[in-house]
Order: sequence, then structure tokens, then C-alpha cells
Amino acid sequence: MAYNKPIPTPTTLTKPFWDGAREGKLMLPRCTDCGRVHFYPRHVCPFCHSAAIEWFEASGEGHIHTYAVQHRGFGGYAQEAPYVTAFIDLNEGDRMLTVLRGVDPSKPEEIKIGARVKVEFEEASDEMSIPFFRVVEE
Ligand SMILES: [Zn+2]
Repeated sequence: MAYNKPIPTPTTLTKPFWDGAREGKLMLPRCTDCGRVHFYPRHVCPFCHSAAIEWFEASGEGHIHTYAVQHRGFGGYAQEAPYVTAFIDLNEGDRMLTVLRGVDPSKPEEIKIGARVKVEFEEASDEMSIPFFRVVEE
């Protein structure tokens, strides 16, 4: 089935993230002055205001901070509803909003805060792959 959800348009700020996603890598920005990781990408570190930002390949692992079942959606997400979105605490630091797959939206009580997750990528076009996360243990 053709990908029918919104496809982001990379900018100079987000291009390293999307280039990595196309190669199956979760790239994250890190401040070389204070060493902290932040997501979403910014021109200036949100912790120390330094502009010294580098990109690195993250493990793609983390755990569920919180989640919600989405009963409505727009675009292709309407056809996927109900589905689960989650905030993931990334192993390297900071938090990412994502679609969480491999869980049953009709049984949200079975989704565990703190459950370990790993990133996967869905091909949206020849140029773009979109990350999502999947639970790797109960
Ligand atoms: Zn910093």
C-alpha cells in the first residue's frame, strides 16, 4: 500500500535527521559545549545557549515516558486510527514524540510506562523514511 501520511520537508536544520532516517539511523543533535542531547533539532542548545551543535548516531533505544491512544487522525492517520502515540525517553537524553507500534490500542492497560522500545523506520518515499518506535519487552 502506498504511503499516504504527511511527509515532512527537510530543512537545513533537520536534514541530518532525515538523511539518517533514510539510512535506518536515528541521528540526534548534541551540544559540544555542555554535552547534552536535545530533540527536536535547534540552532542553539536549549540548555546552555551554545551554537556548537553536532549530530551523532544514537542507539535508537529508550523507554516509554507516557502514551495516548489516538481515536481520530488526519490524512493517512485516519485509516490507522485507533493508534498509539508516545513520548519516548531516549537513552542518550531528551524525549521524542512518536507513533508506537506493536501494541494493541484496544488494550491500553497493557502498555507499560517504562517499557523498553527501539526505533524502526517506515519508507514514505524514495527520499524519506519516517521513524516510529516498537516495544521490545514487556
Ligand atoms: Zn549546551
